[in-house]
Amino acid sequence: MPTTSRIWTTVDFEQDGRQSDYLRLPFSSDISAYGWLPIPLLCIRNGSGPTILLTAGNHGDEYEGQIALIRLAQEIAPSDVNGRIIILPALNYPAVAAGRRVSPIDEGNLNRLFPGRSDGSPTEMLAHYIDDVLFPMADVVIDLHSGGRSLDYLPLALARPGLTAPNQRAVRELLAAFGAPVSVLTDGDGGGGSTTLYAAAEKRGIPALTTELGGGATLSPRGLKVAEDGVRRVLKHYGVVTKLEVNASTGSRLMRSLGRTSAIYSPENGLFEPLVNVGDKVEEGQAAGNIYFYDNPLREPLRLRFPASGVVSCRRFPTLTARGDCLYNLMSDLNDS
Ligand code: CA
Repeated sequence: MPTTSRIWTTVDFEQDGRQSDYLRLPFSSDISAYGWLPIPLLCIRNGSGPTILLTAGNHGDEYEGQIALIRLAQEIAPSDVNGRIIILPALNYPAVAAGRRVSPIDEGNLNRLFPGRSDGSPTEMLAHYIDDVLFPMADVVIDLHSGGRSLDYLPLALARPGLTAPNQRAVRELLAAFGAPVSVLTDGDGGGGSTTLYAAAEKRGIPALTTELGGGATLSPRGLKVAEDGVRRVLKHYGVVTKLEVNASTGSRLMRSLGRTSAIYSPENGLFEPLVNVGDKVEEGQAAGNIYFYDNPLREPLRLRFPASGVVSCRRFPTLTARGDCLYNLMSDLNDS
């Protein structure tokens, strides 16, 4: 069935070679009645083989994936490809250009809008195009995220478990091929649930992984290396770029997210003093941090404690904190109860 999307491009996905254009997202404004928003799009194709869809900048203030994919797009020669690599390194382009998590055009959080709407806001239209046009072409999906402005993250890969037994095996294969130091299975509880890009890929039965590679809206060299090494290993593993030189994975610790019941959310407005770091192993009841009250200096600081034992996957980055902000998420080894 032809797509109902109004987004278009000059890239011919069936043509061999390296093509660079944009997803042209129609956006009519006071100063550009018939214009479009330019979402950078690269297609590197040669003959037959699997299609790998690589995206970054889904959240605009997350940088390791954006740089990893720009470098990859410049490096890979079409003649070395067996199949097709579709690369969108600045996926929510208006958010990337503004250095923000969400689009300033419509305040759209792309990774909370799947499966999108063909007649929706610009960000909803983009989600719909990815789900309706790009996913049906893709055999593997990788969406590179980091913590962004509000979180610091241990570099890791994340995947939803897969809806069928073959999907579950395909997801495990993808996580092993990517080979991040830590691989986390999650159902999105405490995050975007079923509204994310990789959740939409799971629904279509496509093995998909996402990452968290650092945070604080800056570039983590360690996270950038995890992204680049992982994507290169995946391209080689699936036979799409067999000539690629890759660094062997040092192994991936398989873990699971403990979800929102084991997270800590700030119970009050205040100043957050963290007492542990991402990657730390913590015990139930251990002191996690303090909240100081900027509007009541003589009030006793609030001591926060971990509600469960686990390993800290992420921690809030800004000190200024409001009731409801996520301060910590935990994970544990997959086979721990
Ligand atoms: Ca993100």
